[in-house]
Amino acid sequence: MTAPMNQQQFENFTASSLYCEKCKAAMPVRERLLLVLPDREIFDYLCTECGSSVGRREVTAGEKMMAQAIGARRHGRSARLG
Ligand SMILES: [Zn+2]
Repeated sequence: MTAPMNQQQFENFTASSLYCEKCKAAMPVRERLLLVLPDREIFDYLCTECGSSVGRREVTAGEKMMAQAIGARRHGRSARLG
């Protein structure tokens, strides 16, 4: 038996809006790959309105593989792993 709870956690994994100090409101953000390290990738969140950095996220290799596996399932297995 598999619990459907794991998938729900990943629904909240990516932030779609964050508080922007410049706009003084929660603004929609876009994710930009900032830095690639051997064991992780660092993403920058930019406000779509003013373009300032409003947050940062680290994705470890393990998390990335999990996200890709889930993404591949959602997109009909078209994405490749690795
Ligand atoms: Zn802003």
